[in-house]
Amino acid sequence: MTGFARACQESYRGGVRNLKSLLFLAILVVVGSVLYRMRRSPPTLAPAAPVTGSEAMPSNPTGGDLWDSATALWGQGRARQAGELFALGATLHPADASWPQAEAVALSSAGDSKAALQAIERCRKVAPLAPEAVRLRRRLQLEVGFEKAGAGDPWGGRQLADAVLLDHPDDSMALLLRGYSWAMEGDLASAETALGRLVDTYPGTEEAYPILIQCALRRGDATEAGKWLARLRSRFPGTTGLDLWDRQIASLREGRGAFSSRLRVTCDGPCPEGLEREVLEEAERAWTSVGHDLGRSATSTVSIRLVDAASMPTEWAAAVYDGQIRIPLKLATDPQRRGSVLRHELSHAFLSQFTRGRIPLWLNEGLAQWLEGSRPGSLPDARDAAWLDALPSRRQWMDLSSDEAELAYAWSLAVTSELLSLHGSIAMLRYLDLLAGGSSEPDAFASVFGRTYQSLSARIRERM
Ligand SMILES: [Zn+2]
Repeated sequence: MTGFARACQESYRGGVRNLKSLLFLAILVVVGSVLYRMRRSPPTLAPAAPVTGSEAMPSNPTGGDLWDSATALWGQGRARQAGELFALGATLHPADASWPQAEAVALSSAGDSKAALQAIERCRKVAPLAPEAVRLRRRLQLEVGFEKAGAGDPWGGRQLADAVLLDHPDDSMALLLRGYSWAMEGDLASAETALGRLVDTYPGTEEAYPILIQCALRRGDATEAGKWLARLRSRFPGTTGLDLWDRQIASLREGRGAFSSRLRVTCDGPCPEGLEREVLEEAERAWTSVGHDLGRSATSTVSIRLVDAASMPTEWAAAVYDGQIRIPLKLATDPQRRGSVLRHELSHAFLSQFTRGRIPLWLNEGLAQWLEGSRPGSLPDARDAAWLDALPSRRQWMDLSSDEAELAYAWSLAVTSELLSLHGSIAMLRYLDLLAGGSSEPDAFASVFGRTYQSLSARIRERM
């Protein structure tokens, strides 16, 4: 395995970690307050889809002793144990929806939203949901969605937001979750559009403002960040951390750094004289190279921040793109490595813009490696790794072992490279455009490349 694949993997992991650390404080408050509000307070935000507090236990006159035992536990505040008995009842009485509904209420009360959501989905298969259960399902979808988006699976969070919006198109909490997920995915443009629209319609959605401020800061847009901060301050003057935003925006306005019409390079702390200018020149070359090889360039400005290694987790080996490019100083001062790293991270920036964040992870990493200059080597481990054929169904690779993750990166490059040599970059751009337009990945893949990902992947593996 090449050293790069490891660096890239760490870069991706670092990206998720870093994303968390950057947005973490603001977002933690956001998520915490959203969940709190969903549980405790009356519906003020989303008139079309009211939020209630905790749901009542359903009744079941024919439930018998088991039901009575479970409700007795529930009455004693032993929600988890009650949930287990209701789950047992659900398996014994598969045609009675009140068991899984009660299980969901109990598990939700015990704080296990994920299991509660699974129970309510089972309930849905048995019978149409009662209004109470419909409300519970929505609340659980949002709770699980915010948890996922904040824990490295923003795609999963967005799927749940979309599921809620399908039933309640004006649901402000679901709109918030969708924007938040986009921000966590690094698709700042989609996040800002969605959240901007949300606060125009529901200006009381306090949690949206910090995300909007953070998105603008990431783009290096102090004016926009200041605008959102002013709106937050006038509406919610008691918000904690307002002065912290003030300072961040001020230091961005002071504008140390090197700028061109399409790139802005800034140093977070003390920085060797002239380094920002050097990185800007290297990034300009990288921009030209990526745009040339891909056949299209980004249209929005990309920010590059040179950051102090001490402020980063030690696992970091390379740079990261999470709406802006972040490069450790040490790497930025290494002329041997920074060119390929900039091509790699700029590729992520381009691809995110082209597809409005809808690019699958395997192709995002495959193209970034290819555009950075890597070419696939032989991968003997791939031959028997049939799971690689289902790589597109994985929205994150953090659950893979480190060997598997390395293989996933190398495999992404192999498949990407095969597609480019068979079909060329024009077809690749057409595929990206279809994704940007909302086509499903399998449909777009079949229509542009004339086959499924799975069949192509299996064929390449046979060759290995
Ligand atoms: Zn990458």
